[in-house]
Amino acid sequence: MGKRIPLKADTGSKCDLCTSSICCTYVTQEIDKPTTIRDFDILMWQMYHKDVQIYTEDRRWYLKILNSCLNLLPDGRCGIYDERPFICREHENEFCEYDESTEKSADLFFGSADALDKYCKKRFKSWKKRFKKKKK
Ligand code: SF4
Ligand code: SF4
Repeated sequence: MGKRIPLKADTGSKCDLCTSSICCTYVTQEIDKPTTIRDFDILMWQMYHKDVQIYTEDRRWYLKILNSCLNLLPDGRCGIYDERPFICREHENEFCEYDESTEKSADLFFGSADALDKYCKKRFKSWKKRFKKKKK
């Protein structure tokens, strides 16, 4: 994620065409692969928050938070271009979100708590009963 050529000038770069600078409008974090009902219940809690998504790629799970970088200038340039982090410098635009959204490129994609809930209902027979206390 994160790149940015210094100027949105016509340099022939794909990034020039990407007027919303997509890769500067979110953060991602790899998370532990969820396996238990409890793990997925934690993901539900995360998904109940605004602008949070979850996706998988090559069997790895990621949290994606849609929130623009504070250094992104209104014209799409990076306000700290010379000081931008390594991850921004190393981000490739050969095949990026401009070509295909995460929703389409991900193996699994959850854009809402409802979507994750639906998946969990299929995955765990007891998902809907998870809050019921076990009788002793
Ligand atoms: S999403 Fe791709 S095309 Fe758009 S600014 Fe980032 S690297 Fe460039
Ligand atoms: S630091 Fe610059 S290149 Fe990196 S995400 Fe922010 S605006 Fe984009």
